[in-house]
Amino acid sequence: MAQVELSRTTEVPGRILSDEVLPARAWWHKRLDRGSVLRIVDLEGCQAVDTIVYDAADTAVRYNAANTMKLAGSVYLSKGCVIYDDLARPMMTMIEDTVGRHDTLAGNCSREINMVRYGATAPTSCRDNFIAALAELGMSARDIPANINFFMHVPVDGDGRVAIADGISKPGDYVDLRCERDVIVVISNCPQEHNPCSGGRPTPIRLTVWQPA
Ligand SMILES: [Zn+2]
Repeated sequence: MAQVELSRTTEVPGRILSDEVLPARAWWHKRLDRGSVLRIVDLEGCQAVDTIVYDAADTAVRYNAANTMKLAGSVYLSKGCVIYDDLARPMMTMIEDTVGRHDTLAGNCSREINMVRYGATAPTSCRDNFIAALAELGMSARDIPANINFFMHVPVDGDGRVAIADGISKPGDYVDLRCERDVIVVISNCPQEHNPCSGGRPTPIRLTVWQPA
């Protein structure tokens, strides 16, 4: 990964509040203020980023995939999409997107479904990552809803067939998510190696929080 790439992807139209690289397979959580923007950069391409959003004032209210798809009129998330909560209120807006299509159907990987689908386990999974992150926030497995998978390619065909397909994101692709109120974002940088969601080889991502000028 070239240094040039890193500097290019942190150029934002505003002031950077935090900027970090999340290693492959790792998890992350952060409280973000209304008006700030979270940029998620797929540094090497084809890396699924499993994401949940909670209302910072009441974590019982969280990202709602069904509301988000219904109100977007699409099963794919893309630029302009609003991320809605359980009460159909806006949490974040995708104000920039260099990919064009993100998944919120396929949920998160777990050691259990890996065993069912692939007859194999792994030392970790997005479900394990979420539980570890939520423990630091005073939450538990009960607080895991259907999540967003940024950069994950899950095409749905005309007959309703769905599959986890090869990724379409390129190195340096990113999304910008503007907070419509104070939120807590929890991320698992997907460790999956049994299907193409992380290209069979999990890689780091960059997480930049910035304040628009
Ligand atoms: Zn995963």
